Amino acid sequence: MSVCPNCGSEHTRRGGMRVWGVYLVILALGVPAVVVFHLHAGIVAAIMVVAVVLANLLLAQRVCLDCGHQWKI
Ligand SMILES: [Zn+2]
Repeated sequence: MSVCPNCGSEHTRRGGMRVWGVYLVILALGVPAVVVFHLHAGIVAAIMVVAVVLANLLLAQRVCLDCGHQWKI
């Protein structure tokens, strides 16, 4: 269990603004790929899942639910 370096709280979870920003970019690329370019939805979904997992691994961040502090693992 990870502890917040700012306030010492144990109420933390994965996340952070950078990870959410990457999620939005992935969605912004994935939806038009299916709707506009008529790529296979299953293939696009698979690529999006891989991209989300990679984003979580590369931008491993935790956010404190008590004070809102964000830090890299
Ligand atoms: Zn905290």
